[in-house]
Amino acid sequence: MTEKIREIARRILENGEVELVIGFEKGTIPLKSRPVFIEKPEDVEKLIWDGFCENNLATYLRRYKGRKVGIVAKGCDSRAIVNLIVEGQLNREDVYIIGVPCTGMYDRRKMLRDGKLEPSDDYLFMNCKTCQYPTPVLYDELVGEEVSPRTRDYSDVGTIEKMSSDERWEWFQREFSRCIRCYACREACPMCFCEFCFVDENRPEWVEGGIHPSDLGFWNLGRAFHLAGRCVECGACERACPMELPLMVLNRKMAKDVKEIFGYEPGVSLDEKPVLGTFNPEDREDFIL
Ligand code: SF4
Ligand code: SF4
Ligand code: SF4
Repeated sequence: MTEKIREIARRILENGEVELVIGFEKGTIPLKSRPVFIEKPEDVEKLIWDGFCENNLATYLRRYKGRKVGIVAKGCDSRAIVNLIVEGQLNREDVYIIGVPCTGMYDRRKMLRDGKLEPSDDYLFMNCKTCQYPTPVLYDELVGEEVSPRTRDYSDVGTIEKMSSDERWEWFQREFSRCIRCYACREACPMCFCEFCFVDENRPEWVEGGIHPSDLGFWNLGRAFHLAGRCVECGACERACPMELPLMVLNRKMAKDVKEIFGYEPGVSLDEKPVLGTFNPEDREDFIL
């Protein structure tokens, strides 16, 4: 796959189809690959593909709005690209998608804690173990055989669903009290693209600075709600979190509810309107207070 990715990148840079290619190169720390931005055909040898290409590269596309960009995209990256197009943030014709059928990414933090240096299925991220779209949903070229979807499984979400609301609140406050408000989760997320985030507003000031529990709660719930019906379950936010907060439990609960209530999954079709950008008179209303 690495060879194929390099071959395509070289071709589209040489023939001027794109100005740059966003992909992955080998990182400088163990078990880590990192994003790379290739502008010259002679630099395509830097590009690689392995089980640690975990960033969602679609995050970088808005920086290059209006320019022709090539991008290496696994299933979840491609869903984010579709979402960006559907939400009017990106033109389809400005992006050349090198689609990579994905067998999952490995949790390096867990591996290093266990002293393992060889990836195995035990170390796949939960969203990868249950991935429904490992093969990109949109691409210009695919670099390998399609990968079948895994079994849908929301057992991680089930754990908090079984709790009483008091227990759930206690869990939320305990887990999210560790947040240091670094906003790495926001920066890593392809769908967090507001020029001005609600936490940075001071007129009105929705959230105070600092780490008072009410502000931490407001920030973390606000972030999750803003991603409702938009999150593509890539896990980039959780992986970026230095405090290892369980952000994916909130994201996946939201994704599960949106699927169950509205039958909608974001980022799988260019023709479907965003679930919160439309309405149906038959929509459920019983959850509205
Ligand atoms: S969520 Fe799916 S497409 Fe994304 S990294 Fe995991 S297996 Fe690959
Ligand atoms: S909220 Fe997290 S999992 Fe969802 S799209 Fe953003 S980075 Fe990916
Ligand atoms: S990355 Fe983690 S610690 Fe930083 S703001 Fe997000 S949830 Fe809080």
